Amino acid sequence: TVAAGAENLTKVYGAGDTAVHALRGVTIEFATGEFTAIMGPSGSGKSTLMHCLAGLDDASGGRAYIGDDNLTGLSDKEMTRLRRDRIGFVFQSFNLVPTLTAAENITLPLDIAGRDVDQQWFDAVVNRLGIADRLGHLPTELSGGQQQRVACARALVGRPAIIFGDEPTGNLDSRSSGEVLSILRAATDEFGQTVVIVTHDPRAASYADRVVFLADGQIVRELRRPSADDVF
Ligand code: ADP
Ligand code: ADP
Repeated sequence: TVAAGAENLTKVYGAGDTAVHALRGVTIEFATGEFTAIMGPSGSGKSTLMHCLAGLDDASGGRAYIGDDNLTGLSDKEMTRLRRDRIGFVFQSFNLVPTLTAAENITLPLDIAGRDVDQQWFDAVVNRLGIADRLGHLPTELSGGQQQRVACARALVGRPAIIFGDEPTGNLDSRSSGEVLSILRAATDEFGQTVVIVTHDPRAASYADRVVFLADGQIVRELRRPSADDVF
């Protein structure tokens, strides 16, 4: 089954002579349980694509969908509900709440949605990410890498159907990057979640099922079961 995708998606910023064609007809499917890394040069449209796929930005043309839901057809309220119930986000800016502990930040989306925390999965996530001993600390008491891992745990703990990541290993050292990538891998292998990340990290290639390359707003290449050597 298809978890999400886009059909002939276009995005134009501005108008007239200064218009920027950030996406020029992107068609892509994300199969349920698959881990996709989107790579490509700076300015190629990676973030724009991810934002349109996740319903954080409106496309100019074509359509983006999550499951059977066409995002352009949803009201703001329906979009908010879809994001809350079915999507997890790991962005480079951590967006942690400064007055809440790491543990409280991690379970915040579930608390807001009135859902129970699966303690076993919570423990598995924080252990794998190496933050089990940091749970009582405020974000300001954590290193950048630890904050990133808390943000990652927050995206994973509710087991959303699809996880979108924008440079999830962006500020991490090699070891922490490996931990984040392996838990995203585990999310697909062990829980059938679908993962889509935008990344410059060649290491991501050896964890992903496929790498999709964007250039100038179009998909120019796709590799299945790649190795890091393929993307250097
Ligand atoms: P990437 O994530 O691959 O670096 P982006 O999706 O951020 O690429 O950007 C694609 C193109 O769209 C670039 O030319 C960028 O300058 C432009 N762009 C992105 N966001 C905006 C915006 N809010 N307003 C105008 N142009 C934008
Ligand atoms: P474990 O705690 O079971 O040893 P790891 O953190 O090593 O788990 O890996 C978690 C998941 O990520 C497993 O599904 C594993 O197959 C996958 N994985 C780990 N390292 C790599 C790698 N270098 N390339 C591809 N997949 C990997």
